[in-house]
Amino acid sequence: QFPFGRRLPCDIYWHGVSFHDNNIFSGQVNKFPGSMMETVRKITLSRAMRTMQDLFPLEYNFYPRSWILPEELPLFVAEVRVMKDSDPSWKPTFIVKPDGGCQGDGIYLIKDPSDIRLTGSIQSRPAVVQEYICKPLLVDKLKFDIRLYVLLKSLEPLEIYIAKDGLSRFCTEPYQEPTLKNLHQVFMHLTNYSLNIHSENFIHSDSVNTGSKRTFSSILCRLSSRGADVKKLWSDIISLVIKTIIALTPELKVYYQSDIPSGKPGPTCFQILGFDILLMKNLKPMLLEVNANPSMRIEHEQELSPGVFENVPSPVDEEVKVAVIRDTLRLVDPQKKKRKDAHVLLQGKVGWNGMSSGSSSADPSVIPCRRCPRLEHVPESSESLLDAVPAERPEPDAPRSPEAGLPSLCLKQVFPKYAKQFNYLRLVDRVAALFIRFLGVKGTTKLGPTGFRTFIRNCKLSNSNFSMAAVDILYIDITRRWNSMGIDHKESGMCLQAFVEAFFCLAQKKYKSLPLHEQVLSLIEFCECHLAALDEKRLLWGWG
Ligand code: ADP
Repeated sequence: QFPFGRRLPCDIYWHGVSFHDNNIFSGQVNKFPGSMMETVRKITLSRAMRTMQDLFPLEYNFYPRSWILPEELPLFVAEVRVMKDSDPSWKPTFIVKPDGGCQGDGIYLIKDPSDIRLTGSIQSRPAVVQEYICKPLLVDKLKFDIRLYVLLKSLEPLEIYIAKDGLSRFCTEPYQEPTLKNLHQVFMHLTNYSLNIHSENFIHSDSVNTGSKRTFSSILCRLSSRGADVKKLWSDIISLVIKTIIALTPELKVYYQSDIPSGKPGPTCFQILGFDILLMKNLKPMLLEVNANPSMRIEHEQELSPGVFENVPSPVDEEVKVAVIRDTLRLVDPQKKKRKDAHVLLQGKVGWNGMSSGSSSADPSVIPCRRCPRLEHVPESSESLLDAVPAERPEPDAPRSPEAGLPSLCLKQVFPKYAKQFNYLRLVDRVAALFIRFLGVKGTTKLGPTGFRTFIRNCKLSNSNFSMAAVDILYIDITRRWNSMGIDHKESGMCLQAFVEAFFCLAQKKYKSLPLHEQVLSLIEFCECHLAALDEKRLLWGWG
């Protein structure tokens, strides 16, 4: 801990909340720059998912239909009306979530877009309105959601790990499908720990498979004993996580190059993300939210006597979270590679800036764990249930490392391991690479009009049907609309999402009859081909 600042460079920097620290030139930071907090805000996540749903509707049907308010209120009203007209038996419920909110803050349910609260409040606070999943899987008649920890170990090349176990957070009132009468009952509909802890029905348990917070593996055990196909469930969850990260990486890359320009000394980054997932009755996992700064607390508050609180250990949190932090450090261990090369044991330095924000969400006390030995006992039943994610075996003649005495890794690599199945989805990544190429001056995240014109010219996209004047109009129209949505006023110019919209427009214009993802792929290949030819020419002529 460096409560008064830090002088020496470190191998690993562990920040409490965000990436920012101006003088890191090497090592690894546990947060991605700038945008990760932005990227997983409710509106930004919804936008990224919408882009992927436009391209690959079937592959991305694990995210509930969502509208961004206030700008999409008319669209929301119109689409719901059309759906109701075409299916009069459809009696939907919607959940309204304020942007930037967390822990259930400001969330409410409505039955109809005309609900007064919706029209009244959205002008003051942007929000996402989402189709409510009415038929969740219940355990003990209660709704619950799953918090899974995911390690984004590297962006380029993409490396993703998923923790073998997670948390299940339970409601504290028996679930009923939403009706006008029960819409307001948060203990029935919202699974947030921070809300349900205030219910008199909340049960703190010392066991990981009872109470209002349990391990996900204990739920899997129960499902398996009821004959459910938990291997299929795990593979659906893995696919949900990979697809979601594929949706988020393009924007992350734009911020990464702006904060850490390639070729200049800088750290590499990794980040632990919290995925909130709801299981439907038919066991289909649905993504609710991605949390950039998931709570790593392993204690909870207990009221000993009225008004007197004490922090007591929470065995369920400890079981899951200590393993996640421990294995993240094992995976990013800077000495590991050196050890492998030299077969020599070196001691590393670890800097921990956990106190920087005063926030409880990255509780440093998680590291010096008093109860670690418990973790060496992984219940056999859960191990076998989770074997869709195979356990890592030590290499037979690997030198004995300090890890030898530790339990097997709880974090399992899923990417690049399953890259082959998912690479075709990474189209927006390639569009982002084009965007970054034309950003010009390093340090920006928005494309100016000259950059956009150069992109069009270098990729040979203008012709007699699409003049440079039309290019300028396209740039101005789209950029003005995105900037009026008021997401990021710091810089002027075209943001990545606006560029993606312009790119889709150009693709539709050029390759009329194909499905959208084929149009976009064709245009990407067309652009990449022209740019490769240009690079070759420049190389030959020595333009550098
Ligand atoms: P927050 O960041 O405020 O926790 P979430 O998006 O996680 O916001 O929503 C809070 C809770 O509301 C979730 O934990 C879940 O129980 C419930 N919830 C959210 N979205 C849906 C949905 N589309 N269908 C059903 N329940 C939902």
